[in-house]
Amino acid sequence: MSTETTNAALFERAQAVIPGGVNSPVRAFRAVGGTPRFIRRAQGAYMVDAEGQRYIDYIGSWGPMILGHGHPAVLDAVQQAATEGFSFGAPTEREVELVEAIIEQVPSVEQLRLVSSGTEAAMSAIRLARGATGRSLLIKFEGCYHGHADALLVKAGSGLATFGHPTSAGVPAEVVQHTMVLEYNNVEQLEEAFALQGADIACVMVEPIAGNMNFVRASVPFMTRLRELCTQHGALLVFDEVMSGFRVALGSAQSLYAELIPGFRPDMSVFGKVIGGGMPLAAFGASRAVMQHLAPLGPVYQAGTLSGNPVATACGLATLREIAKPGFFEALGAKTKRLVDGLVAVGRETGVPLVGDCEGGMFGFFFAEALPQNYKAVMAGGSERFNRFFHAMLDRGVYLAPAMYEAGFVSAAHSDADIAATLEAARAALRAA
Ligand code: PMP
Repeated sequence: MSTETTNAALFERAQAVIPGGVNSPVRAFRAVGGTPRFIRRAQGAYMVDAEGQRYIDYIGSWGPMILGHGHPAVLDAVQQAATEGFSFGAPTEREVELVEAIIEQVPSVEQLRLVSSGTEAAMSAIRLARGATGRSLLIKFEGCYHGHADALLVKAGSGLATFGHPTSAGVPAEVVQHTMVLEYNNVEQLEEAFALQGADIACVMVEPIAGNMNFVRASVPFMTRLRELCTQHGALLVFDEVMSGFRVALGSAQSLYAELIPGFRPDMSVFGKVIGGGMPLAAFGASRAVMQHLAPLGPVYQAGTLSGNPVATACGLATLREIAKPGFFEALGAKTKRLVDGLVAVGRETGVPLVGDCEGGMFGFFFAEALPQNYKAVMAGGSERFNRFFHAMLDRGVYLAPAMYEAGFVSAAHSDADIAATLEAARAALRAA
């Protein structure tokens, strides 16, 4: 690639042959405007674009890069695995090792099936939940994203009994007729839904810490009641930990709720992102009893040519080994908290209403007076200010997620100096905005 190439020239070229110039919509900067940066390479906490500009990276490939880019141990493992073969379509010892390493940290999961994307994992988990319970109804929450399987592209209908509407063209209404969408953190709606349809609910899928509406925690009363209702009515509680898994804590978000709610466990879990360390890898798991319904043992079909890919599993395994080292999450969590506390302090100093929250290496901040509890509150305002702030930060070499409804990610490679430089940029950006 020529060093004279600009982001704008690449974007134009891309738009001629790729819809919108991108292979996943948020990369197009539609929400914030402007020209997407075409990344040439990344190392540690930094990404460098086609014009040679360097950015402190707070996207981390939307979550996977918890060690930063190009961690030497991960790079070694991937290079070694690649020399041994890219893909066999036959089982390998490394798949077993990776699954064992995941299960070791997550007591609710006895068996796991590896797939290649979070979308595939969530979709397969729902099929399994439906197959295992013999029920059809799926409950999800507004603002939670579980990938783009047809049955999940739904927004709330006007009333509980009316079910949802497709949010994408190409999804027939009949395909989402078994999907009910409720408000996140709304205990009353949950009670009502179970009272109306309890015997038909196969599963409730939830992001325990929602990263697709910035950063919103499921409240403890909400999670407690959700667990009780699922148990009472024989519905499976599915934690979508594609983003939060091995990111907010080594034991994932479920370990945090288990500390707050005695005996708490989800019935099924979906993972992605960190467990693949930046390679296409995701997984879904549950108790042995539930997983036995899956082919080849049971009648629920699911398969994949590249599932458990040897290079991807090497990458995931090397990543998990690093993050399981003593003190890893304490250090990452403290660093992320310094960033968020610093942003809030800079907001106060510049007179801009700014609140934030974080857990492990995942964070969110809002131009608001208080932390939102659901999607409507997240989207209630602040987008213009966010968009100005985003560009002011990008101009200063700090790459935040290009939409205010996305979470941010800190890696082990971010240094104290990076955090300080980010806060300095934020101070200048907020003064200018
Ligand atoms: N679930 C959650 C919670 C996610 O954040 C995402 C992706 N951001 C997905 C599922 C879908 O994963 P993928 O993009 O790998 O298909």
